[in-house]
Amino acid sequence: MEHHDLVVIGAGPGGYVAALRAAQLGLSVACVEREPALGGTCLRIGCIPSKALLESSELYAAARKDLKKHGIRTGRVSFDLGRMMARKERVVDTLTRGVAGLFRKHGVTRYAGHGRLAEPGRVVVTGEGEPREIEARHILLAPGSRSAELPGVELDGDRIGTSTEALSWPEVPGRLVVIGAGAIGLELGSVWSRLGAKVTFVEYLDRILPGMDGALAEEARKLFEKQGLTFLLGARVTAARREGEECVVACEGREPLRCDRVLLAVGRRPVTEGLGLEAVGIEPDAAGRIPVNERFETSAPGVYAVGDVIAGPMLAHRASEEGIACVERIVTGYGHVNREVIPAIVYTRPELAAVGRTEEDLREAGIPFRAGSFPFRANGRARALESTEGRVKILAHAETDRVLGVHILGPRAGDLIAEAAAAMEFGASSEDIARTCHAHPTLSEAVREAALDALGRPLHL
Ligand code: NAD
Repeated sequence: MEHHDLVVIGAGPGGYVAALRAAQLGLSVACVEREPALGGTCLRIGCIPSKALLESSELYAAARKDLKKHGIRTGRVSFDLGRMMARKERVVDTLTRGVAGLFRKHGVTRYAGHGRLAEPGRVVVTGEGEPREIEARHILLAPGSRSAELPGVELDGDRIGTSTEALSWPEVPGRLVVIGAGAIGLELGSVWSRLGAKVTFVEYLDRILPGMDGALAEEARKLFEKQGLTFLLGARVTAARREGEECVVACEGREPLRCDRVLLAVGRRPVTEGLGLEAVGIEPDAAGRIPVNERFETSAPGVYAVGDVIAGPMLAHRASEEGIACVERIVTGYGHVNREVIPAIVYTRPELAAVGRTEEDLREAGIPFRAGSFPFRANGRARALESTEGRVKILAHAETDRVLGVHILGPRAGDLIAEAAAAMEFGASSEDIARTCHAHPTLSEAVREAALDALGRPLHL
């Protein structure tokens, strides 16, 4: 039997970051991962490969359509999908090997195989060779999530697939149907559309991107339509299957859609099977998640859980923050995650980014607020970039002026949101943002102007 202070099950952004932080804090740490590459869904088959393909496809689209606006002439522009995919793989490979290097540097012991709770304080790892047993005072579960399935949609691992397959399709589909207009559908739908697919989204709700600011999501939808994407809203998919070389997608009350490939992107589900939860008396909730308290403790003593397997937005950075807070609590007694300030980004063009409450949220909660907004078309840098779509919206408390939420649709929104998150973490008012000197000419001036607008005095509008 081997012994560690902490055993982490899962080496995704929740688990591997927790393992590194725990090692920094002086614990003897082991991490169990069944995939050959470390980094979890995010690094292997999620955030990172999708961003690599988004970048490649955006450059291709820019070369075809945008460069001429800058007076740049190109010859015929084409792409090599195999090389594009190979570059994506290299990006993933470098980063996953980087995690292995970080484990070595911090002295985290890696166990290759499937980790299962045998009893409180004991984990069994099954992989190649004999099962190994590890004893640990603390066990952190960070097993992540997998793509949700939809009854009637016959996934075939090829033509009808989830994001995992859609990150590696060997050819550009002529016609692609995306089921679900959430972050995954929109990002991968954008990739394949830029590469030439005719993409149709079928979305159950009457809007895209549920949870994001409604008005900005609507503005984004119109921009995406201009890019050639088609949206069928208020349409529930009931089945999808192969019919020879075609796929057929059935929607309630509509004609079936015929296409070459289908991407199912209707959310993700926590992974808890085979974890041995029953052996330590942990009962998942109705949504299959592991219940935890604010210290990330499960009902079993010494067993903790973070990330996609517990309640909350399924985001890599949230999982990492939770992993850090969890082990800091174990070692120092302190550590927390501010759930009010977790940014979310959708990496389309333009990007959508948000932190804090939405207008819809605040209205429902009866919290009085003022909204300030500023369009990128009035921002000098956005003009110079030729990226003037979208705007910044700041929501501040009507009485205290404290910033409650910031929503951005526009160029580099994903980077701009960091200022808003930092401001909110420090309890800033919109006046604090408005009185902070922002460099000129930058996109960030739009954030300042939105803050000024919340105070009723925008300068450049
Ligand atoms: P999602 O929950 O964001 O969106 C799924 C969409 O599918 C919803 O709009 C839903 O109404 C729709 N839907 C469900 N059933 C349907 C049906 N039968 N017919 C038609 N539409 C249907 O899920 P996702 O996009 O798959 O993402 C999964 C998770 O991963 C989310 O938590 C997301 O935040 C996260 N994620 C985040 C990013 C990012 O931050 N950039 C990127 C990828 C994934």
